Amino acid sequence: MKTRAVLDTLHEYTPGHRIAGAVKLSSNENPLGPSPLALDAARTALINAHIYPDGGYPDLRSAVADRLGISPRQVLPTNGSDEALTLIAAAYIEPGDRVLIPVHTFSQYEFSARLFGATIDRVPMRDLAIDLDATEHAAGVDTRAIYLCSPNNPTGLILEHERLVRFLDRVSPSTLVVVDHAYIDYAFDDSAANAIALIGRYRNLVVLRTFSKLYGLAAMRVGYAVACEERIAEIGRTRSPFNVNSIAAAAAVASLEDTAFADSSLDMNRRGRERMESIYRSLGMQWLPTQANFHAVRAPGGDAAAVAEATANGGVTIRALGSFGMPEWLRITIGTGEQIDRLESLLAAFADRRG
Ligand SMILES: *Cc1c(COP(=O)(O)O)cnc(C)c1O
Repeated sequence: MKTRAVLDTLHEYTPGHRIAGAVKLSSNENPLGPSPLALDAARTALINAHIYPDGGYPDLRSAVADRLGISPRQVLPTNGSDEALTLIAAAYIEPGDRVLIPVHTFSQYEFSARLFGATIDRVPMRDLAIDLDATEHAAGVDTRAIYLCSPNNPTGLILEHERLVRFLDRVSPSTLVVVDHAYIDYAFDDSAANAIALIGRYRNLVVLRTFSKLYGLAAMRVGYAVACEERIAEIGRTRSPFNVNSIAAAAAVASLEDTAFADSSLDMNRRGRERMESIYRSLGMQWLPTQANFHAVRAPGGDAAAVAEATANGGVTIRALGSFGMPEWLRITIGTGEQIDRLESLLAAFADRRG
C-alpha cells in the first residue's frame, strides 16, 4: 500500500521492555499507584460506560482551571499529553515548517512534528541543560514551533523562570513555544520556570501537563494543554469529539482533590531522591541534580545498555538513554524505599565488578 512519504521516517513507539514481576523504574510512574479517591471515582464512572462522555469535559476543565487560577476556556483536556502534542502539530504545522527541539529530550516532540511534515532542527545543549541562548540563536521568524521541557526528560534539569521570560520576550510572537511541564509538580527550586503563570502575557505559549506522573494515572491517559483562549480554541478544533474517556476524566478530577495523596507522593519522592543521591555518591557514580521523579545517572563503565540489562536480569528495570542520544547514561525512576533497596544491591554489585 502506498503510504505518505513521511512514514518512511517514522517508527512505531517501542516501549521500555517489561519483565513480569520486576520492579519497574524505567518509565517515571508513581510507585504508590493511583490515589484511592481516583480509583473510587473511576469505579463509579464505569457504571455509565454505555453513555458517551460529555465531550466538553466541564468538570475536568473547571477542576484544573480552579487549581491553576485560570479560566476553563484556557484548558484543553487530552488523551495524555502525547495527544496534546499531536493536536498542536495538527493545528500549526505545515509540511516543511521548521521546528526546534533540544538534542536530549522527550521523543514525542519530534514524532508529532514529523508526522505533519516538519523539518526538525536539534538545538545543542550545554552541560546537558537546555540552552536558551543557543535556542534563540537558532530561531528565526520562520521557526514554526520550539519545544522545551522543564524539568527536562531525561535530565531532570529545570529552566529558570526569569530566563524563560527573557526568552519569550525575544522569540518571534509568530513562533509557537511549547513548554512541557509533565514533571513540574516535583520541582522544588523557587527559580524553576512556571510557564502557566505566563500564558496571559505570551499568546504564542502553550503549556502541557499530565496526570501520568505525580497523579499515578499513566494507564488512564489524561493530560491537558493550557494557553490563552484563542490558542486553546484553535488546538481544540483538531481533536476528536470524545478524546478523553469519562472514566479517566472522573479519576483525574478526583485525583486533583486528593491533595493528601499528592503530598505523600511528593514526600516519598523527596526522601527517595536524597537516598538515591547518597547511593550514587557512595558508589562513585555521576548524576544530574534532578527536580523530577527520576535521575539521569552516568553508567559505571560507560555502557548504559549493559548496566540496564544487568539490573533487569536482577529484577529491576531502568532506562538506558541511547535513544535520547546519551548512550553512557541511565534514567532511573525514584522508587519506594523497598524498590531502592533492591536497586541499590544491583548497582553496588555492578559498580564493584567494574572496579
Ligand atoms: C511522561 C511524560 C509525558 C506524559 O505523557 P502522557 O501522554 O501524558 O502520559 C509528557 N512529557 C514528558 C516529557 C514525559 O516524560
